[in-house]
Amino acid sequence: MAFVCRRCGACCRIKDGIVRVDDGEISRIAAFLGMREDEFIEKETELSPDRKSLVLHSRPDGSCVFLTEGNLCRINPVKPDKCRTFPQDWTNPDSASVCPGLAASRDAVTG
Ligand code: SF4
Ligand code: SF4
Repeated sequence: MAFVCRRCGACCRIKDGIVRVDDGEISRIAAFLGMREDEFIEKETELSPDRKSLVLHSRPDGSCVFLTEGNLCRINPVKPDKCRTFPQDWTNPDSASVCPGLAASRDAVTG
């Protein structure tokens, strides 16, 4: 069975999950939000735990600050590549336990 996203937002509220953003993504997202890049960086990002890049802010419950109450992404047209390509292009060992759409597509394959 092909992967179908359930729009549950679970992948956007992983405790300790991080979403790195590179310069191009920062530029795109800031423009979409009508913010200056430096303003966006200061208000919406922080240094990653490994101090190698910037990541989007998370709320105390682990959810991304751009996740709406209706499980939509507030920056969907310009969301980071990491978000846009999950789980079709990349996963990690825990992904199927987080993502019901991925689990269903794998169940269909393994029977
Ligand atoms: S940027 Fe959008 S898709 Fe990515 S984690 Fe945040 S809410 Fe989810
Ligand atoms: S966890 Fe999977 S099914 Fe739920 S919104 Fe994310 S990609 Fe879609």
